[in-house]
Amino acid sequence: MGEDKRIDRMETKVIHSGYNPSKHYDSLTPPIYQTSTFAFSSMEQGAKRFSGEESGYIYSRLSNPTVTILEERVASLEEAESALAFGSGMAAVSSVLMGLTKANDHILCSKGLYGCTFGLLQLMKEKYNITSTFSDLQTEEDLLSNIQENTACIYIETPINPTMKVIDLELVTSFAKKKGIKVIVDNTFLTPYIQKPLLLGCDLVIHSATKYMGGHGDVIAGVIAGEKDIINYIRKTTQKDIGGVLSPFDAWLLIRGIKTLAVRMDRHCDNALKLVSLLKKHPRIKAVYYPGDIEHPDYLIAKKQMKKGGGLLSFELEGTYEEAVRFVNRLKLIAIAVSLGDAETLIQHPASMTHAGVPPNARKAMGISDELLRLSVGLEAWEDIWEDVKQALDSF
Ligand SMILES: *Cc1c(COP(=O)(O)O)cnc(C)c1O
Repeated sequence: MGEDKRIDRMETKVIHSGYNPSKHYDSLTPPIYQTSTFAFSSMEQGAKRFSGEESGYIYSRLSNPTVTILEERVASLEEAESALAFGSGMAAVSSVLMGLTKANDHILCSKGLYGCTFGLLQLMKEKYNITSTFSDLQTEEDLLSNIQENTACIYIETPINPTMKVIDLELVTSFAKKKGIKVIVDNTFLTPYIQKPLLLGCDLVIHSATKYMGGHGDVIAGVIAGEKDIINYIRKTTQKDIGGVLSPFDAWLLIRGIKTLAVRMDRHCDNALKLVSLLKKHPRIKAVYYPGDIEHPDYLIAKKQMKKGGGLLSFELEGTYEEAVRFVNRLKLIAIAVSLGDAETLIQHPASMTHAGVPPNARKAMGISDELLRLSVGLEAWEDIWEDVKQALDSF
């Protein structure tokens, strides 16, 4: 049991990897090391820990044993050499983007990034003249025409929120390898259970662990995974000195949440697929967007790099904006909330919520109409989720 035995299957790794009870008084569940600092046995030991001559803990902003268990578990799930946990998804995104760029660099991004990531890029432009370009990244020509002399990295979200377009990661990484550019993927929407960007040639994976990794809507956290050298560099620079670390208790919540990742993701995906088939048949639904739907324009790319379709879908109502408001307000079981990946089914209206800050024309160009709604399909019985959607659809 634990790290001494080779474990290959994801369903087992989520429960066992990175933790060996015999090293923690045989405690079956990982303990919470709720301490800010660690006592050295001597002056000499303290000096050795600081110089790196001896491994061991010093201070919990640098590392903490409970957080280490989480990091080793995530590294194992993403099949990475190393992983690093943060106090939020945005702490992870900012530490990575600021760690891997310098003033006057350029970042090539997929279109339709998470709002705060977009905000961070604006800030980096204003403060350090680090510019970014947003592209569909659909073809090699697309990549070639957007790359610059000073491009430091390519930053991707796939599927793209909330239109669920998919980017071919192998296409991007084979191009980037030739040019020596690093590829970073925000894998929040899928988790390593569904997609493993590092195995497709990407250099770094980022998660808002707040979402599916934690899975219970009770923790804000982030995590990154990749090669040891990159992870160590970020650990020793932007994470240590900006300080967006994860608390031992929140790490423990994540360790607990991740144990059920495989079973949860299966249910999220199965429920989503069921709802897609029912929504598509309803006369008041104009369009449904879900990468696991055979009629989705990117279905073949999704099939190639994703194990399943994921738990997120979006759809457009046949009706006006006012009718969309009435529809959402009539839902009883489904909660009106941003975030995603929780046990509860959540609905949000991108045009007035997550993408309200995007100017209307840019929003239209991204495929976000006023009637578009995004559903984070929860773990409830699909029949109950559907009954709620249907009663609201039949009466709005
Ligand atoms: C939520 C989210 C983030 C930010 O994560 P926080 O944990 O809220 O800081 C980044 N990327 C994506 C895709 C997200 O959904």
